Amino acid sequence: MKILIVASEAIPFVKTGGLADVMGTLIREIRNLKVDARLALPLYRGIKDRFDLNDTGHEITVPVGNKNYTAKIFSYKDSVFFIECNEFFDREELYGTSEGDYPDNAHRFIFFSRAVLEACDALGFKPDVLHCNDWQTGLIPLYVKSIYKKSFSKTATVMTIHNLGYQGIFPASAMLLTGLDMELFTPKTIEFYGQINLLKAGITTADFVTTVSTNYAKEILSEQYGFGLDGVLRHRAHDITGIINGIDYKEWNPAEDDLIPAKFDVRDITGKAKCKSYLVKECSFKNRKAPLVGMVGRLSSQKGIDIFMGVIDRIFSYGVNVIILGKGEEAIHKELRGIAKKYPDCLSLNIGYDETFAHRVYAGSDMLLIPSKYEPCGLTQMIAMRYGTVPVARATGGIADTVEDYNHLSGKGTGFLFTEYSSSALEECLKRAICVYTDETKWKKIVINCMRQRFSWEKSAKEYVALYRKLVRKVTG
Ligand code: ADP
Repeated sequence: MKILIVASEAIPFVKTGGLADVMGTLIREIRNLKVDARLALPLYRGIKDRFDLNDTGHEITVPVGNKNYTAKIFSYKDSVFFIECNEFFDREELYGTSEGDYPDNAHRFIFFSRAVLEACDALGFKPDVLHCNDWQTGLIPLYVKSIYKKSFSKTATVMTIHNLGYQGIFPASAMLLTGLDMELFTPKTIEFYGQINLLKAGITTADFVTTVSTNYAKEILSEQYGFGLDGVLRHRAHDITGIINGIDYKEWNPAEDDLIPAKFDVRDITGKAKCKSYLVKECSFKNRKAPLVGMVGRLSSQKGIDIFMGVIDRIFSYGVNVIILGKGEEAIHKELRGIAKKYPDCLSLNIGYDETFAHRVYAGSDMLLIPSKYEPCGLTQMIAMRYGTVPVARATGGIADTVEDYNHLSGKGTGFLFTEYSSSALEECLKRAICVYTDETKWKKIVINCMRQRFSWEKSAKEYVALYRKLVRKVTG
């Protein structure tokens, strides 16, 4: 069985968020199961300088609209293919700057989706399963069922939704770029309120749809979480399942992490206190004993920054220190900068993307605050738990699947959860956590509970492989 996973980002090559972690680790884990899985990515700026790529010598011609683009195919260790087209991918960022998305994103990812299929032809690699991820690759299942039907008649397609909030919606005129028959511009396929929707194309035409947690698979069928696609998803409810992401236990391991000032594990957590002292000093917090609350993630409205900002003054009245590490929307950066000026002694604002610092924040914080409006799976709560940092989070999507709310009677639980999306619910939850924090014995028990959790990839990779096998059987009859 040959699998081709297609994505717009993957570690170790390029990363803007959780998708990259998931793609990079999933491919490794599936290959560990002795399945021939390969990955296709755009060749972004800088990858060639950092990795020893092999020029396959193959050149493909990819029509987008009325123009033909030439692309070169590079490979890395025979398991990753890169599509090189500098006009589209030799840029500072992946999808856009803090001012907004690149205006030619429709061009870029229509090109990429088609180029992947052309590349398969050129390389003579006919996958049994094409596993597509998020809107950037949503056209592939539709291409497989239309323009490329002949060459991929025995290929099954899987569409994985990592985040329904991003759908790749473009003006109807972009339909001309796809080269698809205008008859396909219908609500059953790609049309979405007069525009085209690339993720919808994937959802409606893939043989199977997955998302990244069981709970999110249910949530997206509702109007509240469906982003306008809940009707389409309900229609395919029998072909949708949730497979939870894992984290990379080699990368995120406090016992062997060279990026943190002191190592520790579940048998001896003294190193964690040293990590905290280091972090407190690094951030110049005045009160060195205060509970330390970390936040790591994209600064977008999805992450619940608004309900956090709505209660910021009250949060600081509880005498906590807060570290924020994130990058995202310029308006949020601006607002946070204003707040940081007001609280120089207890708020450390770090706008930017910094992997090394992220390790220190996960290791040194007491709690990780995740007030997300929605969270398909969420990796930060799992990473935090690995480092004995207790999630204080909204029970949504994968968070509800991976964090167990603390029960003060039984002492069971791995975090503090709230349900209502509001500043007051967040405040109550954080207050509850701070209250338990003052009891050293109880707190240590939660920390240990967290560190004992296992969110490894092995089980999930096996679930993907089982799904691939089922689909291959279906397609080949
Ligand atoms: P999402 O995919 O919505 O961005 P996830 O929780 O699934 O959120 O994954 C986020 C990943 O990106 C985690 O590995 C987190 O540590 C990392 N990350 C996010 N923002 C930053 C940042 N500013 N600096 C370093 N790492 C970050």
